[in-house]
Amino acid sequence: MADHSPVWHPFTQHALAKPAIAIARGHGATLYTEDGRAIIDAISSWWVNLHGHGHKHISSAIAAQAAKLEQVIFAGFTHEPAEALAKKLIGIAPKSLAHVFYSDSGSTAVEVAIKMAVGAWHNRRRPRHRVIALEHAYHGDMFGAMSVGARGAFNAAYEPMLFDVSYLPFPAQGREQRTIDALASLLKSAPDGFAALIVEPLVCGAGGMKIYAPEVLTELAGLCRRHGIFLIADEVMTGFGRTGTMFACEQAGLWPDLMCLSKGLTGGFLPMGATLASAEIYDAFYSEDRRKTFFHSTSYTGNAIACAAAVANLEVFEREPVAARIAGIAAHHKTRLDRFRGHGRIADIRQMGTIAAIELAATDAGYFATLGPKLNAFYLQHDILLRSLGNVVYVLPPYCTSDAELDRIYDVIEESFSTIGA
Ligand SMILES: *Cc1c(COP(=O)(O)O)cnc(C)c1O
Repeated sequence: MADHSPVWHPFTQHALAKPAIAIARGHGATLYTEDGRAIIDAISSWWVNLHGHGHKHISSAIAAQAAKLEQVIFAGFTHEPAEALAKKLIGIAPKSLAHVFYSDSGSTAVEVAIKMAVGAWHNRRRPRHRVIALEHAYHGDMFGAMSVGARGAFNAAYEPMLFDVSYLPFPAQGREQRTIDALASLLKSAPDGFAALIVEPLVCGAGGMKIYAPEVLTELAGLCRRHGIFLIADEVMTGFGRTGTMFACEQAGLWPDLMCLSKGLTGGFLPMGATLASAEIYDAFYSEDRRKTFFHSTSYTGNAIACAAAVANLEVFEREPVAARIAGIAAHHKTRLDRFRGHGRIADIRQMGTIAAIELAATDAGYFATLGPKLNAFYLQHDILLRSLGNVVYVLPPYCTSDAELDRIYDVIEESFSTIGA
C-alpha cells in the first residue's frame, strides 16, 4: 500500500509495509494511537524505554534543563548535568572504568570504543588494528560498528568497505570451550596483532536474543588480560538492569577496559551514547604531545538536556523499587515460559533477567523467515507491540509493566502459536 508520507522509516521495506501507525502519546507500558487504540509496548520501543513512557521524573528534568541550558560546546566547557552523570555512571559501572566520553547513540558509543582501543595502541607506538568479535554480534549500523558485527543481508552492499575482523564461534550451551579455544589460538597465532575483543555480554540481542553463560565471558576476559588486549563490553542493550543486574558484566565479574552504553541511558527519552574507559586507556592519550589527543567529537556530544534525562533516569533507580520490578518481571517470564516447554512448535526457550525469547521451529529460519511478519501482524491486531527477530519471538518490556499486562502479552503469544501457521 502506498504511504504518501515523505518519511523514510528504518528497517522498513516501504513497498510491502502498511502505513506507519501514528502514536499520539505514551504512558507506562502503553502507547496510544491517534485513532484511539491502546497498544502494549512489549519491546520497550526497540529496547530503549526503562521505566515506562512519559515518566514524570524524567520528563520534568528534561523541561527544567531545557529552560536553563540546552547545549554548549563540550570542548573546553562543561556543565553540571554532564559532571553529575559521569560521577553516577562511574559509581555503578565495573571498577575498572574511570572516564566517560559522551556521544549520541549506541553505534557512536561503539565507534568511540573501537577508536579508543586502536588509538591507544597507536599512541603507545605499538600499532594494532585487528578486532575480534563474536559470531551473531550486532554493534550498530555505522561503518565501524557494522564491521565488528555479523555479516549478512543487512550489510551485504557495504561488505567490501568493511574492515576485516576475526570472529569467535558463538559459545552456545555445551560448546563454550570451542569459543575459548578459538580466542586462545588467535591470540597465540598473532601475539602483537590484536587491539581488542568486543562482546555483547551474556546476550547477543539483534542476533536473535542468543544467550551464553557468564563463565565463558570470565574466561575470555582472562585471556584478553593475559595477552594484554583490550576488552570492549557493548552493554548498549544489556545495560541498566535488562539482564537482572545493573550491567551484564557484573554476572561474569568482568572488568572491561571499555564499556558502551546507550538505549536505556536516558530511560528511553533522548538519544545519547556514552563510552566508559579505564585509566589505562585514558592514560594512553594523556600527554603533552597534542598529537596524542583523542580526536573525536559529534556536534551534540555532552548535550545538557540528554545528560539531565540520564541523571533523572538513574535517580529513578534510586527512588523507586526498580530492582523489585525487574525481579518481578523475571519471575513472571519464567512462569509463563515454563508453560511453553514441550510445545511442538518451539525449538528453544531462553531467558536472562527481563529478556525472554521463544525460538520457533521453522524451515526458513533467519531474519527473512515469513513467519515473523505474520506473527507481528497478529500481535498488533491484538494491540501488542512485538517485533520478532525471524523465528524468535521475544518479550523485553519496560520495568513498569504490570502482571496483568505481562499476562496479556503471553496470552496473545500463546494464541498466536496455535493460530498462525509457519
Ligand atoms: C542497538 C545496539 C547498538 C546500536 O545502538 P544504536 O543506538 O541503534 O546506534 C549497538 N550495540 C548493541 C548491543 C545494540 O543492541
